[in-house]
Amino acid sequence: MDLTNYKTQDIVKKHGFNFTKSLGQNFLIDKQVVMDIVDGAEIGPEDFVIEIGPGVGTLTVEMLKKAKKVTSIEIDKDLIPILEEELKDYDNFELIHKDALKVNFDELIGEEKSVKVAANLPYYVTTPLIAQLLKSGAKFQSITIMIQKEVADRMDAKPNTRDYGSLSLMVQYYAETKVIRTVAPSSFMPRPKVESIIIRLDRLEKPRVKVENEKFLFDLIRDVFNMRRKTLWNGVKNLGVGKADLEKAFEEANIDPKRRGETLTIEEFAILADKIYAYK
Ligand code: SAM
Repeated sequence: MDLTNYKTQDIVKKHGFNFTKSLGQNFLIDKQVVMDIVDGAEIGPEDFVIEIGPGVGTLTVEMLKKAKKVTSIEIDKDLIPILEEELKDYDNFELIHKDALKVNFDELIGEEKSVKVAANLPYYVTTPLIAQLLKSGAKFQSITIMIQKEVADRMDAKPNTRDYGSLSLMVQYYAETKVIRTVAPSSFMPRPKVESIIIRLDRLEKPRVKVENEKFLFDLIRDVFNMRRKTLWNGVKNLGVGKADLEKAFEEANIDPKRRGETLTIEEFAILADKIYAYK
């Protein structure tokens, strides 16, 4: 087949592939969007690329042309023979038939030095997969992904905005976010109901703030945002620290307990977490 004009619709038709909605199968049919992911990820000849969910290989083929190697992880067994056939001319392609949520990325990366994750993600796995990747400590440089707009807005949100919350803080603790572009439903087959965004997360050398206990920081953030629209004071009651000690911790952190969680920067959350943790 002509690999310069790899056409999603033709491949789907040729193999009589049936879409599974529950697997988030919305394949890209817009070449410009495919190239915007590849260019946004800045894939070059040194790069080992990990792709989650190759579908029929629309994005994969463009990355194979530029990267040293592409390893794609696909859960749908019906797509495996299609990908093997369509991409057989590429000796830098590796296919793993597995649930991406069960992959040990640290092991997969091994000794590779320049590692990039890129994907048009199945939207139902976005949050758990990104959390797993960021928290794993795996040494990738960046994640460039197409995700639903609403989730991208939350990842990229700044304090005092409607979208700011625990996802913004988790992502920005580990990475620098950069929105690349918005993508309309008409760029996919079948069309998703929502708008999408290509976003890039550049992994920071070390987390944005230093804390005594990372888990405690995220417990605090979770509790505070579970109490959205309430004061910080309402959010910290279940952290296992007494009222008098909590009062001292707020004073030492120089943070007013009447403030709401959505007004705090990550640096302020880090100070507050450390001061409260000292009384545990
Ligand atoms: N990359 C292709 C494209 O852009 O046209 C397909 C993208 S489609 C949004 C998501 C792909 O992820 C599908 O091929 C789906 O089967 C696969 N997928 C869904 N859940 C997965 C999981 N847990 N692990 C790995 N792949 C998964």
